This record gives sequence, C-alpha cells and structure tokens, in this order.
Amino acid sequence: MALLTLEGFSDEPLQDALELLTAAGFSADVEPAREIYVNRDLRMNAISWVGFDMDYTLALYHQDELDALSVRHTVDTLIEHFGYPEAIRAIKPEPDFAIRGVVVDRKLGNILKLDSHYYVGRAYHGFQPVARELKKAYQDERIRLSLDRYVLVDTLFALPEAFLYAAIIDHLERDGDGAALDYMQLYDHIRAAIDLAHADGRIKRDVLGDIPRYVRRDPELAQTLHKLRSAGKHLFLLTNSEWYYTSELMSYMLDGALSSYPTWRNYFDVVITTAKKPWFFRGDDPFLLLDELGRPLREEQNGFIRGHVYEGGNLNDFQRKLGLRGSEVLYVGDHIYGDMIRSKRDSAWRTCMVIQEMEGELQKRDTMRAELNAWYALDHELAALNSDLSAHRRVLERLDAAYGLGTLDTALGQKVERARRDLKRHLDLLGKRRRTALGRLIDLDLEIAANFNPFWGFLFKEGAEHSFFGGQVEDYACIYTSRVSNLRQYSPLRYFRARTQHMPHEL
Ligand code: 5GP
Ligand code: MG
Repeated sequence: MALLTLEGFSDEPLQDALELLTAAGFSADVEPAREIYVNRDLRMNAISWVGFDMDYTLALYHQDELDALSVRHTVDTLIEHFGYPEAIRAIKPEPDFAIRGVVVDRKLGNILKLDSHYYVGRAYHGFQPVARELKKAYQDERIRLSLDRYVLVDTLFALPEAFLYAAIIDHLERDGDGAALDYMQLYDHIRAAIDLAHADGRIKRDVLGDIPRYVRRDPELAQTLHKLRSAGKHLFLLTNSEWYYTSELMSYMLDGALSSYPTWRNYFDVVITTAKKPWFFRGDDPFLLLDELGRPLREEQNGFIRGHVYEGGNLNDFQRKLGLRGSEVLYVGDHIYGDMIRSKRDSAWRTCMVIQEMEGELQKRDTMRAELNAWYALDHELAALNSDLSAHRRVLERLDAAYGLGTLDTALGQKVERARRDLKRHLDLLGKRRRTALGRLIDLDLEIAANFNPFWGFLFKEGAEHSFFGGQVEDYACIYTSRVSNLRQYSPLRYFRARTQHMPHEL
C-alpha cells in the first residue's frame, strides 16, 4: 500500500493492522479492477436513496454472446426486409472493433474515435484505417455531434451497430458491390433493424430462453444490496426494460441468494419498469400501477405502495411522492446519456457509472506494468525536458530583448552575444534529446495501446488526451466502477473524495 509519511506522525497502528489483514489472508488494497474511482466528492452518509438501472448495471451481459445475438437478428432483418445480399451472413465477429464512445460518420461511412476536445484521433472505413490525408478533412471543421450526420455509440447495446456498419461496408466494397453504397441509408437500415429486434422482443425472447448464456450472475450482488439496506438506505430500481423481462432477469440474479430476502422484490422499496429514460428525467408521464402480470391497473396519484410495481413516471413526481431532495439520491447506471447526462443536467441526483469494460482494461494494465512504467518514466523525462527548454527559451527571449534595445556598452554586449550563442547551442541539444524521447514515447504508446485494443487503443484515452468517452465519464459520473458489487468493499457511509484538480497556471 502506497503511503505518504507525515512528519511526527506514527504509522505503527496502520502497519499493525495491515499485518493482521495479511495474516488473515486479505489483501490491504482493493484490486484496481474492482475499485471505485472518484470524479467528484460524494458523501455516502448524505445519500438516503440508491437507485439502480438494470441492463448492463445490475445485469451484466456476456458481451460477445449478446453482440452475436443482436448481429444475427439484425442481419436477418437486413436481408429479409431491406434486400441486402445473403452473403452478409458470412460476416465474422470482430469483438475488439466496436467500443463505447466511437462516433459513426453516416455521410462518409467512417467510424471515428475522438478525444475530449472533439479532435479525431483514429478513423476507420470498413476495417481499414482512414488514410492520413482523408483524416485531415476532419481537422478543418469541428466535429459537431448535434449534426444528424454523426451518431455517438454510447451504450453497450449499440456496439453491434457500429461493428455491422464497418463490416458491411468492408464486405460490400471489398467484393466490388459497394459502388453505389449509400452510407447514410446503410446506417439507417442497421439502426432500424436493431431497434426492431429489441422492440418486437426477439432479442429478449432469446435471452430469456437461455439466461446463463447471456447474463453474468454476480454472486456478490445480493450482499452488496443487503449492506446498503443495513446502513439504512432505501433502494429503487429504475429500468427501461419491460416488467416481464425485468422480473425474469432480476429473479435469476437475486432470488434465493440470501435467506432474509425470499425474492428480488424484497431488496427494493420502489420498482419502476419501462421508465423511458432519458424522457423520465424531463417528461411528465404518470406512474402506472401494474398487476402481477405487468398489465396497467391505474395511474398512481399518491405515494408508492411497497411491493408493487410501476411503469413510466417522471422525476418530479418520483421525488414528490417520496418527499425527497435530489441530492439525497445516488443513481447507478451504465448509459452515459440516458442514465448519467440527463440525471445530472435535469436533476440534482448524484451519479455512479458502471463501466464493465474497465475490468478487462485494468487487468491489462496490470500485465503491462513494465511497459507502462517505462512509459511513465519517459513521460516524466519529457516533462523535465519541456520545462528545461522553456526556461532556456525564456532567458534567451529576455537576453534578446536586452540586446535589441541597443543600449548595452560594448563589453557587456559581447558577453550577452556569447551567452546567447551558448544558450542556442544548449537549446539545440535539449531539442534533439526531446525529439528522441518523444519518438520513443510515441512508439511505446502505440505498442501499449495496440495491446489494449488493436483498432482503438485505450478506452479512456486518445493520444495524450482523454478520449471523448473518458471526458464524458469525467464530466457526468460522480464516481465510476466496473460493477455494482464493488460497492460492497466500501463503507456505505464512505466519503468518496476526488483528487484536487489544478489548472496549469496554479502549478
Ligand atoms: P436499462 O438499461 O434502462 O435497464 O434498459 C435498457 C433497455 O433498452 C433494454 O430493455 C433494451 O432491450 C432496450 N434497448 C437497448 N437498445 C435498444 C434499441 O436500440 N431499441 C429499443 N427499442 N430498445 C433498446
Ligand atoms: Mg442500462
């Protein structure tokens, strides 16, 4: 465990406790893949209600299986309804290709990864990197995601559509069938086909037909919810999924896990299905009380009845019925737009984002420790070189200014002239060393990034910046982690503290 040693402060009690922990077979640190990371201070003791999204939050999916299922149904619809050639059935999965945060350019048929300043870092057409000169076209104008030319892939449900878009372009253009390919229309067909497979229940029917194949049952989930309840928190479920699907998945994940909770319903004070997030946060749909078969009985004007299930609803009524202030609610979700952005912008709810990809990303960091350490050392060297270079330049500029006045006597003028020459020579040397270090850093960066994802590199980074996705997580998630059950490793009264941030002028 890394500790700062404070002068005059004994760390003996801590060291003793650590020894005890080790002797008892426990690790002193939470492993990085299971940690909770903090963007904004969050006092858990000020939170009285904790809400959960279901899909990809409480219910984590086996991504490859669910992707394959979505792709299969989408390809069927593309062939049967939109007349695409049978040959597209031969498309093979490429699990690394689609990641969250990439942007589809429907006009040019490209997929882009942006940094948090909207600069295009990487771009693919089909599975081929977009040539450097074509990529330059993106630098002449700011990427405005509000244009309907662009679509942001911001949920794990949408990965298959980014993959299929690239795969079909790749397939048709490689076979020479792509001459008349209308990129806009292709995207719209794929979107419509995937939407249909969700809306008509085909995907859900298949998932329910073999839940263990598609859903990861987290053995620590029940204990996690219990721990929150034991600390006096109320829990609610707020999902866009319909009641029939929600009840089966939640039963699979929680029923029978703890003897004090006969069914999953016992963990939650309020259950809301078909919530229509993000509309839930700004709309005024009523809450409908459902019967046991999920049929609407009536509008619920008053409070919620514990043990009953609701559909629809809206933020204002939710808070009014429960007599809540927004800042007492922590909402745990996975969708950057539907769960994080809207709840942050339209309410005072605090947010916890579940990013299941983090587990793999952080485990890879662990296996690449040596390369990452070399990277940090080079980065450190570059920072020192940059600082040295700017100190030399600053003094040179001051000397130039003094020399330029023409007021120095001859002897001093000669000395200044010599000092300027020496400084310039030194600047050249520093510049060379910087170029070498930078070259090594770029090579190492590419090598490391390729190990994370050969197409896109890091999920949270693009070049030296946050990726667009990383930037959004930073902006909208108060805390973030790889799965809900990671909360179990922390006190339910924990004060999650963010690191103090500095602007360049403050350092
Ligand atoms: P949540 O994450 O709020 O629990 O719910 C996600 C729900 O949205 C799931 O029921 C999922 O099937 C549904 N969903 C995800 N993507 C699409 C889509 O493209 N179209 C439709 N109609 N539903 C979707
Ligand atoms: Mg979700």
